[in-house]
Amino acid sequence: MKYLDGFRDPDAARFLRRRIEAAAGRLARAGRSVRLMEVCGTHTMAIARHGIRDFLPDNVFLCSGPGCPVCVTDAGYIDAALELARRGVTIATFGDLVRVPGSTGTLAEARAEGARVVVCYSPAEALALAREPGAPEVVFLAVGFETTVAPLAALLRSAVAAGATRFSMLAALKTVPRALAVLAEDPEVGVNGFLCPAHVSAVIGAAAYEPLAERYGIPCTIAGFEPLDILLGLLDLIEQLADGRACVVNQYARVVRREGNRKAQAAIAEMFEPADAAWRGLGVIPGSGLAIREPFAAFDAERRHGVAVRPGRPAPGCRCGDVLKGKILPDACPMFGGACTPEHPVGPCMVSGEGSCAAHHKYAR
Ligand code: SF4
Repeated sequence: MKYLDGFRDPDAARFLRRRIEAAAGRLARAGRSVRLMEVCGTHTMAIARHGIRDFLPDNVFLCSGPGCPVCVTDAGYIDAALELARRGVTIATFGDLVRVPGSTGTLAEARAEGARVVVCYSPAEALALAREPGAPEVVFLAVGFETTVAPLAALLRSAVAAGATRFSMLAALKTVPRALAVLAEDPEVGVNGFLCPAHVSAVIGAAAYEPLAERYGIPCTIAGFEPLDILLGLLDLIEQLADGRACVVNQYARVVRREGNRKAQAAIAEMFEPADAAWRGLGVIPGSGLAIREPFAAFDAERRHGVAVRPGRPAPGCRCGDVLKGKILPDACPMFGGACTPEHPVGPCMVSGEGSCAAHHKYAR
């Protein structure tokens, strides 16, 4: 706790607030309002939990982007998992995905109708399930960003080494920088600065954002998860904008290196290759996903079971797509807190523990 106290010191927070107000004041005198975007589900929760939006001057708007891996997973992916479940395959998954609606229902509903859907607390549990004597076919729902992909690469390598013939993955793995480029190019989003994710950056490194800052003139600052980390990151972005700079700044140097984690990058590259990926709200982004490499095709559920992940239909009226692009805050969705609650979620942003709508519902209402 002593360690954490250092990142939650109220005097330091007040000092940062004064600096933020000073930098935002410079922007205001130039007639400027700015829109910042955080792109990490853990930041989303921390910002809501600590009331950080209330800390910001009126001319600084902070929105959430596509930082929650469950939320950005397209409804069509759930449809493919449902198809597999209906064929009698055992679906192994983390808990959040069970309640995410596909075009025609959820895995929780399929389970209630008799499908075998097992919630795992680690991917290794899914592999163990497939290696039990007399085990059924097991498909693990592999959803996540670079942080999750590294351990999944290790899991896939273990499955290959063990000859686990009844195990495969339905992959919806995504990489962050290309999605940020799509957002940077979208005038409707109008983002002026990215608060870059901490865990993902530990894998890919700060240098991964340099093309973004150079090409689009958008400052990118990496921040940790404590309140002071986040305030420091936001201060850096606001000061860069007030100064007319656009650099990559690593405010989380106690964890993130410029080159990232080379071991994790090598493990990922060994098992996965770049592929196009469908993002909820952002559409298909070329090269923004990771697919299982051809030599390991037997462990790719799409090829092994002949299912295809096609574009799905989001729930009517759900505005998760706009929330994930930072175009609206969750409470601008007409269903927020009424037809859509954490107990009865309509869209994935209300299901996931890292979703913007769930964070808003829990802390910011
Ligand atoms: S409040 Fe519910 S329906 Fe509206 S965007 Fe969020 S998840 Fe979707």
